[in-house]
Amino acid sequence: MKPQIMRLNLSKMSKFEELHKLAQKMEEDDSLPLKKGATKLVFGSGNTKSSILVIGEAPGATENLMGLPFVGQAGKLLDKLFPLAGLERKHVFITNIVHHRPPENRDPEPAEIEAYGKYLDEIIKIIDPEVIITLGRFSMAKFLPNVFISGVHGKVFKVEFMGKQLIVVPMYHPAASLRNGNVLEAEKNDFYQLREILSKMKEEKKKEVPKVKQTELI
Ligand code: URA
Repeated sequence: MKPQIMRLNLSKMSKFEELHKLAQKMEEDDSLPLKKGATKLVFGSGNTKSSILVIGEAPGATENLMGLPFVGQAGKLLDKLFPLAGLERKHVFITNIVHHRPPENRDPEPAEIEAYGKYLDEIIKIIDPEVIITLGRFSMAKFLPNVFISGVHGKVFKVEFMGKQLIVVPMYHPAASLRNGNVLEAEKNDFYQLREILSKMKEEKKKEVPKVKQTELI
């Protein structure tokens, strides 16, 4: 009898594939509290290989219809803010703290944030970002509880999250900037400062000595 040769598939799933699988799991999860009232799941979109993850609050009316984050008025402003930081939407991955639209765009409730939180944690694990930009107080509070956005917006925080060091930069929500000119000016300045922060991080990375495994020295 011929020996059976088994081909082991050792290839790892790409981040894109992992996220796709997670989005499917979320689609099938009827326990998600805002699912019933929503049209589409807004899982997230963007560059799955990015080292920058942007986390907003909740889908609005346009996002709910299109199934994509930040595609309404706040998203249009966000697209204008990104270049101040030397970024474009296609450079980052964008998601939200809850992934279905709350009725009448009300604030997400603590139990809702918790229910979607386990999926958001998975997204963070898969993207494995170095920098998280939070938009608004709800995503900020996930990493920086007990602070006020008016006191910390645009600042850099080193945060230990799920066993990993992350840089968190809390920003005002673009919807708040659309409502208030002073907030808009502050947010523009924060995105401009973010350009400095990101380029300093790039410089630091260049200086890092590549890690060599012990076994490779033998
Ligand atoms: N506001 C958010 O926080 N997220 C979106 O996706 C759209 C608007």
